[in-house]
Amino acid sequence: MVPYVNIHTHKPCNIPIEVVNMVDPSTIPDHGLFSFGIHPWNVARTDVDADLRDLENICDEKKIIALGEIGLDKVIDTDLELQASVFLKQIHIANQYRLSVIIHCVRAWSELAFLSKHYPAVKPWIYHGFTGNEPIAQQIIRRGHFVSFGEALLKSPKLQQVFIKLPLDFIFFETDDSDEKIEAIYKKAAELRHICTDELKETIHRNFETLFTL
Ligand SMILES: [Zn+2]
Repeated sequence: MVPYVNIHTHKPCNIPIEVVNMVDPSTIPDHGLFSFGIHPWNVARTDVDADLRDLENICDEKKIIALGEIGLDKVIDTDLELQASVFLKQIHIANQYRLSVIIHCVRAWSELAFLSKHYPAVKPWIYHGFTGNEPIAQQIIRRGHFVSFGEALLKSPKLQQVFIKLPLDFIFFETDDSDEKIEAIYKKAAELRHICTDELKETIHRNFETLFTL
């Protein structure tokens, strides 16, 4: 049977397929699936040029399978123009190395839609921790990107209604920084779709293979 896929976590659980978000590129182990990127929260308090050099180095060494989480956040004080410029520099690197991107987006859907139209991705992006509405999700999917659901899917009836209308071929699940188990999110998702967990696991695993190994 195919394994669960946890597409984005800060708290690894040693399951076979989990993409672990790293904050320090010098501590990325030789084996495993990892992501690293300059988070919008860190844009104003880090040495961006040094981080970008680190990012290129770990891409050269093939230490990450995705850049992230990176994106735009309109709730923080950091200037949006500055966030966008650091984001685009990282998109450039992702495209150069043919890597996917794990997107952090807070109230900046239209800005990210604009950027994704003008700076097309070489590999599809993953909009992580999705809590938006159905038109936003459909727009992301129409561009060939993926939408990832986390623990909010367990709790929000509104989000559950969005989830049931989306094509499963463009979906992932994640635990992010929560203590929730990935199994619980799959279980809820399978219930909502009236399918068995094994069928859901097959589909999500196929999505993972399509995105990362083909
Ligand atoms: Zn995260």
